[in-house]
Amino acid sequence: PATTTPLHLVFHLAKAGWLRWYEQLPATVIRPGKTPIALRVGFDDGSGFDLTEAGTKKSLAVYVVRRPDEVPGIARLGPDPLGDDFTRDVLAGLLAGRRTQIKGVLRDQSIVAGIGNAYSDEILHAAKMSPYALAAGLDDAEIDRLYAALRSTLTDAVAQASGRPPADLKDAKRRGIAVHGRRGEACAVCGDEVRSVFFADNSLEYCPTCQTGGKLLADRRLSRLLK
Ligand SMILES: [Zn+2]
Repeated sequence: PATTTPLHLVFHLAKAGWLRWYEQLPATVIRPGKTPIALRVGFDDGSGFDLTEAGTKKSLAVYVVRRPDEVPGIARLGPDPLGDDFTRDVLAGLLAGRRTQIKGVLRDQSIVAGIGNAYSDEILHAAKMSPYALAAGLDDAEIDRLYAALRSTLTDAVAQASGRPPADLKDAKRRGIAVHGRRGEACAVCGDEVRSVFFADNSLEYCPTCQTGGKLLADRRLSRLLK
């Protein structure tokens, strides 16, 4: 039966997914399994986009739904950290009682929505806070700092991306990044070398001088506790 309820196309790009926009969509035939293209969407004016996913681990997901909250990953989302109602005290409430590392708390989409591996690194660097710090152990001054860093980092990231053609987004994101993916480079704040902690399928970056009192973080402890 005919319906006026709009459909929503919802996608999760996972870790290695990208959207590539075309003013004029290529006419090439896509052979499933032989290309990183997971989905091609075309519009009546000839424009369109591909969703691509690099690597052998395929996690990109696409949904077509009447309501976005029909997607399980959206239904379970925590609050929007850029919402007007996301105050310093809301953040304090989310951290209270969590005896887990702040890096994992920031990345947990059911606690706070929209912060991934890159921006959790950036927020913690801006807050001068170790990714190992226990969420429940932060004092009032640290929560103040974390809140200010979270809001300013995400606000800047949105401003960097707004109004840019999709093809420029990857470079725009990279320009605004201080530590994430910059292992071995000099910290722009203090000049120390940016370090990594490696996991099975990703890594985090941090600045020892800015964030851990100069101490280098061990890999295995974090990989066990963060899983
Ligand atoms: Zn530094």
